Formats: sequence, structure tokens, C-alpha cells
Amino acid sequence: MADTFDDFLPEALRFTSPSPLVDIGANLTHDSFARDLPAVLARARAANVTTLILTGTDREHAEQAVAMARRLAGEGLALHATAGVHPHDASRWDAGLAADMAELQRQPEVVAVGECGLDFNRNFSTPAEQERAFEAQLGLAAESGKPLFIHERDAGQRMREMLHSWRDAIGDAVVHCFTADRATLFGYLDLDLHIGLTGWLCDERRGHHLRELVAEIPATRLMVETDCPYLLPRNLPAKLKGRRHEPALLPWILREIAHWRGDSEAELAAATTTTARRFFRLPADASREASRGDTTP
Ligand SMILES: [Zn+2]
Repeated sequence: MADTFDDFLPEALRFTSPSPLVDIGANLTHDSFARDLPAVLARARAANVTTLILTGTDREHAEQAVAMARRLAGEGLALHATAGVHPHDASRWDAGLAADMAELQRQPEVVAVGECGLDFNRNFSTPAEQERAFEAQLGLAAESGKPLFIHERDAGQRMREMLHSWRDAIGDAVVHCFTADRATLFGYLDLDLHIGLTGWLCDERRGHHLRELVAEIPATRLMVETDCPYLLPRNLPAKLKGRRHEPALLPWILREIAHWRGDSEAELAAATTTTARRFFRLPADASREASRGDTTP
């Protein structure tokens, strides 16, 4: 195995999941992956992270994610993409962009509409612009029938109101990188949403409340993600050069979540993968999927 990791990851960070994992949020079109993407993918495979959902956050990145999924899948690794417009970029939403996103979402590589949603923490686009773009993308998901990949930060109440009125029109939806409080979590579960967990709970400064909440999420609604290159877990057992997060570190996050839930790692790995495969409608057998490199069920 050692040769597939190259020297980038210190020995202490070479994890292997006891059962294949799906990283439901990998921003591999980020510039920081441009110079060593093949090695990043090889390390993911060696860590038994066998399926990556590449996050598409705007037209350019969604196009790149689709092209990447098409070009690089295979050899034990399945790649899929999402296509949406992030709330930060919601001010750019117009009819032309809507048409382009609908076209992208028809591609077989695209397994979800998003990343889209509301972020009232930073308000890079105004709340009104964010709601307009999100509403339009809820409409696209309703039309295509594809699941939704949702971003929400400091906007839990408005998110629940909007999803409540769309609940019957849309299918499955995941709130990725969930970081909110108990009331928001139960509100989402009441709407029968899925929850994506990152290494946020590995952060001793701000992850405490999450540690007490993760056991409340039914395994059939829980999925795991790195959200790399962002959100490098703060409690890794060794320092990482450049501090860039990557899919090969997902087993560490899984281990942490399993600990706080009181699950075994193997149990949680298998459960989150089953949930993710059903959510994104991936074939049940990951090895067949990876060798074909397509998304036909
Ligand atoms: Zn996000």
C-alpha cells in the first residue's frame, strides 16, 4: 500500500476505512488540487474512500467537476459531480445561468442539484438574492427529480420555511456540513432531510455541541464528507504540510463521529455508504461502478 500514498501524508495520517466510504463533498476543482490531483485520488483509493462526489458551486466549477468525473473515474474509484450555484454567488443568478445549470444537471455525471442554499453568516450575496437563487434551484430539482445538496449557515429558520413549502415537490435533500443547533437538526429531520457531517466536530473550539448531537441522527439519514480543501480536522494526530484537507482523511472524521455516536467504525462506514449510495442513486456495488466509470444504475 505504501507506494500508493507517496510521501505527502505522514505515516500517522495514512488511514484506511474498514469498509468503503463515499465522500459526499469534495471540492477537487479547487486550485489547490491542480498540481497533484492524481496523487490525491490515489491516496483516497488507498484509504478506502472509493466514491467521491465532486462539489459544483458555480457554472465554471460544475463544468470542471463534470469533466473531471468523466475523465478520471476508474481503477477502483468512482467520481460523480453536483451542479449548482452557491449562496455566495447568488447575485449572479439570471435566466442564462438558470438555463446553463439545468443543462449541466441533465448530464449523467451529475447526481445532485447544488451546492445551493442560504448563508446569512457572510452575506456575500444579499439574503434576497440568495433566496431568489435558491428558490429557482429548488424548482430545477423538482423538475429533474435529482436530490438536492444544500448549504446552510446561520439561516436555519428561513431554510426550514423554504423547504417546508417545497417539501412535496422535491425529492431527497441533504444539508451538507451541518453545524447548527439541536432545534435546527430536529427541524431538518422532521422534514425528512439527510445530514452531512464534516470534521467540524473535530474542532475543540466550536465542535462541542455537535458531539452531543450526532447520536440523534438516524444512520439512514447520515452521510460523511471532507468538504476539502476546507475544514481540515483540527485534532489530526500529525501535522500536515500546507494544511490542505483531502478525501484520504475522511476515515479520521468517520472514526471521530463513530466515537461520539457510540458506533463501531465498521458499522458506521457501512451505514453511511449504504445511505449515500441510495441518496445519490449510485449502483449498490461500488467496484462495478468504479470499473465502468459511469452512473447508470
Ligand atoms: Zn457548503
